[in-house]
Amino acid sequence: MGQSQSDSLAAFAAERLARLEKEGLRRELHATSRHGAAAVKRGGRRLISFCDNDYLGLASDPRVARAAADAALAHGAGAGAARLVTGDCPLNAEVETKLAAMKQMPAARVFGSGYLANIGTIPAVVGPGDLIVIDHLAHSCLHTGARLSGAEVRVLPHNYAEQAHKLLEGDFPRKLLVTETVFSMDGDIAPLAALSAACDEHGAWLMTDDAHGFGVVKLDNPAPIQSGTLSKAAGGYGGYVAGSRELIDLLTSRARSFVYATGLPPAVLGAASVALDIMQAEPERGARAMAHARLFSELVGLHAAKSAIVPVLLGDAHRAMRASAALEAKGFLVTAIRPPTVPDGMARLRVTFSAAHEEADVRRLAEAVSEIRK
Ligand SMILES: *Cc1c(COP(=O)(O)O)cnc(C)c1O
Repeated sequence: MGQSQSDSLAAFAAERLARLEKEGLRRELHATSRHGAAAVKRGGRRLISFCDNDYLGLASDPRVARAAADAALAHGAGAGAARLVTGDCPLNAEVETKLAAMKQMPAARVFGSGYLANIGTIPAVVGPGDLIVIDHLAHSCLHTGARLSGAEVRVLPHNYAEQAHKLLEGDFPRKLLVTETVFSMDGDIAPLAALSAACDEHGAWLMTDDAHGFGVVKLDNPAPIQSGTLSKAAGGYGGYVAGSRELIDLLTSRARSFVYATGLPPAVLGAASVALDIMQAEPERGARAMAHARLFSELVGLHAAKSAIVPVLLGDAHRAMRASAALEAKGFLVTAIRPPTVPDGMARLRVTFSAAHEEADVRRLAEAVSEIRK
């Protein structure tokens, strides 16, 4: 009698895990509860978090939480179905109207998450026989969307606009250049004007993912396809794409992750709606997150921060893990970021700043990080 399927699968998984462990790449969950803005509890200890994407402190804003509760009580806990079937709660349109206005685009469509927005949108606009040029450091879901499309994929060295001209050459029915606005792991910014000019010259469309720019970094963005998330600065959950009315209507019919996935729960939409109002009414929140990032980069002696994300490169995955543990011992939560999230040999601390942080804590963190870098 052979091994059971479950046993052979477990043996395979154990072997893979042992290899990951050896390379310092095994990932594990740690129960961590949030306690107000920027504070978490882990293992009974209170830590100040410098690694979440809640840039404006809205994830714990009582106005946003109350809107979530109110929406759930008014509309129920779940959407019940995909939006095209019976799940199009009117809160979707409310959020989409606000998003379109904030993105200064004619229309927007909300998706289940930023991940779903990207993997649905790319294959809806290009397919087999077409060309995608995508930045090397673009988020995993953008690369996944590119592969799902079946188009030819060429990888652009990070932010290398001149090279985009070369890569966009060739005769293809459709061409798409995919990048982020603010890069999630490096905090740097794409040369949008130069990339857009390359697209103009080669008959391509530019698509940007603004997951880490929205609400924090103001950019002139000429891209006709602009995706993003409601799970970072907006403090909640969900994704979106903004563009022309025609593009949004096409996605509504053709983006599989929209058509075949259940709509967002009303509570999530209610939270997003109020969070977007606060983002517009209180722009000083984004400015405060940026000021913290600039102060930190200056104190540690790094390149001046261009966004609320400051990478502290350490190279080796084990070294990054040790640095993270040392900071945790001092009361700071800064998770180590390792491959494959970042390229091999580029493990780091990814320090993120929020309007919810106090300047004194930013200064204490800078001191602790400076010590580690010595
Ligand atoms: C976080 C992130 C996403 C995924 O968004 P979710 O709403 O969390 O699914 C997509 N793109 C980038 C650049 C991100 O950082």
